[in-house]
Amino acid sequence: MLDKRQKYLFKKKLDELRKIKGQHTELISLYIPPNRRISDVMAHLRDEYSQSSNIKSKQTRKNVLAAIESIMARLRYFKQPPPNGMVFFVGMVGEPPKLVAEVIEPPMPINIYLYRCDSQFYLEPLEKLIEEKDVYGLLLIDRRECTIGFLTGSRIEMAAYLTSRVPGKHKKGGQSQRRFERLTEIAAHEWFVKAGEKASKLFLEKENLKGILVGGPGATKREFVNGNYLDYRVKKKIIGIYDTGYTDEFGLREIVNAAANDLEELDVIKDRRMMQRFLNEVRKDSGLAIYGEEEVKKALEAGAVEVVLISDALEKYKVKARCKNCGYEVKEIVEKLDMKCPKCNVPMEILEKKDIVEEYAELAENSGAEIEIIGRESEEGEILYKAFGGIAAILRYKW
Ligand SMILES: [Zn+2]
Repeated sequence: MLDKRQKYLFKKKLDELRKIKGQHTELISLYIPPNRRISDVMAHLRDEYSQSSNIKSKQTRKNVLAAIESIMARLRYFKQPPPNGMVFFVGMVGEPPKLVAEVIEPPMPINIYLYRCDSQFYLEPLEKLIEEKDVYGLLLIDRRECTIGFLTGSRIEMAAYLTSRVPGKHKKGGQSQRRFERLTEIAAHEWFVKAGEKASKLFLEKENLKGILVGGPGATKREFVNGNYLDYRVKKKIIGIYDTGYTDEFGLREIVNAAANDLEELDVIKDRRMMQRFLNEVRKDSGLAIYGEEEVKKALEAGAVEVVLISDALEKYKVKARCKNCGYEVKEIVEKLDMKCPKCNVPMEILEKKDIVEEYAELAENSGAEIEIIGRESEEGEILYKAFGGIAAILRYKW
């Protein structure tokens, strides 16, 4: 599954492809699922090639044939598709026509085979792939029953229902009160172990599990959570404990309703907390809060940064560009890609281009810092973007 950064980059890539328009129906999108044989794809492309030779417009024909040739040339390097399949976006774009050729390995397996020639690239299957589908684990427990379920998007499903043998409140005749209580505690412990094992197994198996909600009436749920009954990885994912009246399937809906506000804001809340920490340091004038591209970069290179805060609304790139005329080269962060040579004022050729978030994510990685991509939806996100130029950091120490 994609983390926030990968998702950001993938969306950016799709945004770029979406902006590309062909003059005519001459942009090719080719989706190849992992189980498709390359030789079959090649045969199909040869077929498309011969059909495209009949296209009336000379320019369109030329462009389509060039695109197909380009795909076939690249496909020859593959014995089989990558594990998640691959997608080609190829076409001649602009005036004079320039070949755009993107090969994308999707973050999750694609299961369609599709060839399309159109005036724009066909992106829907990839867009669907990264649509937010967070999964939350649901766990309801008291001393009698335990229900485990999942919330996917807005769908609630039950995954397991267990019942206990913990005796009720009333002891059987002949037992002393102390003995009865001891037996009850032993039975409760065993019940928690059983429920904990089942829940841990189901939650660990689930892909894309973003958090876990625990519910139930009374104090039992906390007793269960505070004891060591859940795998530590599962325990770390608990995002809230809620009171519910029921611990059966009915309780699943109850707990989702109880947690609705928290779920909605989860990412936003995380962003907000981080920004508040930053703003707090700014206010205290502690010297631990810095901002600006250069400042943050220097601190990262010195290894002084704990966490980088970067706005997802920045439309900037780190580029390497060269002047076609005099050969002058620059490496810098820019907003617009139509750069002109400072010496002879002719358009420069972009040799390399990297999204600014990716650039700083790599810098952060190399210096052991964390990076938080902050959405602009929250008030704090807007402050980061507007007041701090979209990039800031909290330092480990003053330097
Ligand atoms: Zn120049």
